[in-house]
Parts: sequence; C-alpha cells; structure tokens
Amino acid sequence: MINHDLLTFGPVPSRRLGHSLGINNIPPKVCSYSCIYCQLGRTLDMQAERKVFYKPEEILKNVEKKIKDAKGKGEPIDYLTFVPDGEPTLDINLGKEIELLKPLGIRIAVISNASLIWQEDVRDDLCKADWVSLKIDAISEDIWRGVNRPHKFFQLDKIFRGIIEFSRTFKGKLATETMLIKDINDNTEEIGKIINFIAGLKDAKSYISIPTRPPAGKWVKPANEHTINTAYQLFKEKSIDAEHLIGYEGNAFAFTGNIKQDLLSITSVHPMRKEAVNEFLKKANENWTIIEKLIAENKLIETEYKDNKFYIRKLTRAEDA
Ligand code: SF4
Repeated sequence: MINHDLLTFGPVPSRRLGHSLGINNIPPKVCSYSCIYCQLGRTLDMQAERKVFYKPEEILKNVEKKIKDAKGKGEPIDYLTFVPDGEPTLDINLGKEIELLKPLGIRIAVISNASLIWQEDVRDDLCKADWVSLKIDAISEDIWRGVNRPHKFFQLDKIFRGIIEFSRTFKGKLATETMLIKDINDNTEEIGKIINFIAGLKDAKSYISIPTRPPAGKWVKPANEHTINTAYQLFKEKSIDAEHLIGYEGNAFAFTGNIKQDLLSITSVHPMRKEAVNEFLKKANENWTIIEKLIAENKLIETEYKDNKFYIRKLTRAEDA
C-alpha cells in the first residue's frame, strides 16, 4: 500500500531552485550508488536497472493536491523537483511523469547522480526537464569507487561520455554538483581533473558542496574552508560559473540590510576578496571591526589563495549550525 503523502514534500526553500516542491519518485533508499556522505545512510537496495516504482498518474494526482494546498496557503512554487530518497532516473516512468506534470505550468528539475546517463532513454527523459543537476565527485576510477561506491555494473568512462552527450543536447539549465570530502577527493590534482572535465561541458553551472548533515560513513569529514576556497578559485580560473553550496538555504537570497547577515549570506556562496569586503563595508558605512568580530565568533574564516586574502563563511554541520 502506497502512502501517497510521501510522494511529494514541501515546498521547501532551495538555494538553487527557490521554492521547490519535492517529488519522491523512488522508495527509500533505492539507489545505484552508496555514497559515503549520503545523508540517508547506506543504500538498502542497490539497483542498476530502471523499473516501475509508482504509477505516473498517482504522482500527478499527488503533485496537483500539493500545489492546491500550497496555493491555498499563499506559498509560491518555483520548481517541481525530482529529488527522491534514491536515484530518480532508476524510475523507468520518469519521462512520462515529466510529460504529465508539464501542463501544470511549473518548471521541472531533476537532481541525479548521473550513473545511468550513458543510456539513451535516460538522457531522453532528462531532456524533458527544465533544470538538471548531475553529480561529478571524481574523475579517477579509484576515487569514484571510494566516494560514490557505485553498483559494480557501472563503468565510469561510459558515464562521462553520457554526461558530455547530454550537455550537448539538453536545452534546459545544466548544473553539476561536486561534494568535497576531506582526504578523499579534495586534493588539488583530483579537483583539477574534475574542473577540466566540467570545463568541456556546455554552459554548466557548477556547485561545490560539502556534507552538511550526518553522513552514511561516520568517519566522513567535509573539506575545509581553505580547500573549498581553492576549489572555487580554480573553477573561476577556468571561467566556470561556480558557487558554493554549503547548507545555508534560509537567507541565501536575502539582502536584509543587516550587514552581518548579508556578509554571511554572500560568503556562504562566494568567497569575498579583501578588497570586495572593504568596498562592501564602505557602502554600508561600517568598518573592519565587524569582520574581526565575525572571525572571533567563529562565523567567518580568513584564508589565502595566490597571495590574496579571501573571506568565507565558516562551515558547520546542520546539527550544530
Ligand atoms: S546518489 Fe544520492 S541518494 Fe544515492 S547514495 Fe549518493 S547521495 Fe545517497
């Protein structure tokens, strides 16, 4: 018996998508990966082949109800987002579901680990969405196996070819997401390989993230602020549109007029160079004391890249944020 209330959730605030109504088109936790940082814990049901999970009409009915409820409460919805407790492209009906949802007039997003993108039918389904995010955590085979712990059926080179092919044909907005894990995939060499690969994709927006909730592997630690800043600068040097995604959804868009809040919001997305911080303080009629205070309160970190000082929001885990 299906609990229909679990097929959708939200709308929830999303830094990338605004107000996002989540669609849970995969039962927990069916996935093709078992990432060491997965916030859902270890994969219970490892799958490599697509299959039917729910009837597309049931998903549509549930989404329609949620939209009606949200409208009744005056809550806006910017995206309908396939972001289940598993890998959304394992659902063989994903394309059909997107087609059924399109007439509702709300943009559709899919957040995928990209493991099945070498299959033409998966690419065709994803092409129907307006926004697609693909996971690229590693380029080296051993690191990929270590961080994503894929189903043994997958081949990394085929996945890369699928991503490249998809980026050429997809007409919507393509995003990539790279989760940086301390001492696993956060060395400059691997980050450089990831950047070179992403630089070859057509118009991708890249998000650099770290685990912000308790991960599947208790030993897993997020990359530190210095590494994250270095990764950001390296992405920028290759002219890649990059942003941090480090777990502050709430006020990331807001310019509150509260200088502290604004500085923390900005530096959670983009590290600020010292000159930019000075400029910002001047506009707000403030001085450097506020920065020193934020550093003393352990909310802001000063770090260096190529002899320039950068300021980045201190990373915290959700449970102690
Ligand atoms: S792909 Fe996503 S759902 Fe699957 S194990 Fe990795 S983080 Fe978890």
